[in-house]
Amino acid sequence: MTNTDEKFYRATITQRVDVAPELWILRIRSHGEFKFVPGQYACLAVEVDGKRIERPYSISSAPSEDEVEFFLELVPNGALTPSLYKLQVGEELLMRKIPKGKFSLDTSNGKKNHLLISTVTGVAPFVSYVRTLSKEWKEGRFDGSHKLFLLNGASRPWEFGYKDELLQFDRELPWFTYVPTVSRPWDHEDWPGEIGRADDILRKYADQWEMDASNTVAYLCGHPDMIEHSKAILKRRGFVDRKGVKEEVYWIPARK
Ligand SMILES: Cc1cc2nc3c(=O)[nH]c(=O)nc-3n(C[C@H](O)[C@H](O)[C@H](O)COP(=O)(O)OP(=O)(O)OC[C@H]3O[C@@H](n4cnc5c(N)ncnc54)[C@H](O)[C@@H]3O)c2cc1C
Repeated sequence: MTNTDEKFYRATITQRVDVAPELWILRIRSHGEFKFVPGQYACLAVEVDGKRIERPYSISSAPSEDEVEFFLELVPNGALTPSLYKLQVGEELLMRKIPKGKFSLDTSNGKKNHLLISTVTGVAPFVSYVRTLSKEWKEGRFDGSHKLFLLNGASRPWEFGYKDELLQFDRELPWFTYVPTVSRPWDHEDWPGEIGRADDILRKYADQWEMDASNTVAYLCGHPDMIEHSKAILKRRGFVDRKGVKEEVYWIPARK
């Protein structure tokens, strides 16, 4: 790949994990220093027929890792993901040198609960939060006074890219709770977990965890419908302050 400019690094794919037929985790090593804050996204690009196509992707790795990780979904007729999907270990892509986004954990406003709600790949920024805080906790730099509660929705059990890692964190970390939920369980009688979309179970868990706008910040990431439904539910619970609800919408839904 040629033609990088001052705005893009070249980056080499070091690992690819195919989570499901159209979902995969990529780890890349950038050819230059890339600094970011957990919750931010990077713009990935490839050149297709001489034209550079780029899209934003949330980063799932922690800043302390020496590679940058992403959880990607193939959009079959999309402009970029079919090209990204073809890339294998050892091949290169482009990444903007500067990360973007303000979807970071807000620990400055006195609220100690952080309710993280995601669909499928929308879990990525939350993985970055938890990996980062877990390291800080083990090194004595985070006292566990902020509690993270993650509701992670998918249609099918095999779509959870980080379930094992997050369940392990849930067992290890007293300040982290993980609830994966599946909305199409009927083909999976052995699914032991929650049933329903993330926004369907939001009310129940917000009650159980005694969350309200005075003690909780909500973070919504991924599918636009989940974000709309969750915002409406949260609004009815008193989350009217825009600072109380942060959102990262992955795409604009087609008009019905
Ligand atoms: C801040 C931010 C972070 C993002 N992080 C991630 C991430 O971590 N992982 C990830 O896979 N994607 C992420 N996205 C979405 C990503 O940027 C692209 O939109 C997506 O990969 C599709 O790109 P494309 O060029 O293949 O399709 P496009 O040509 O851009 O889109 C084709 C059509 O599909 C719709 N569409 C886009 N994505 C989806 C989808 N997932 N499901 C259904 N329809 C869709 C578009 O609205 C459009 O109508 C993020 C988006 C934003 C804004």
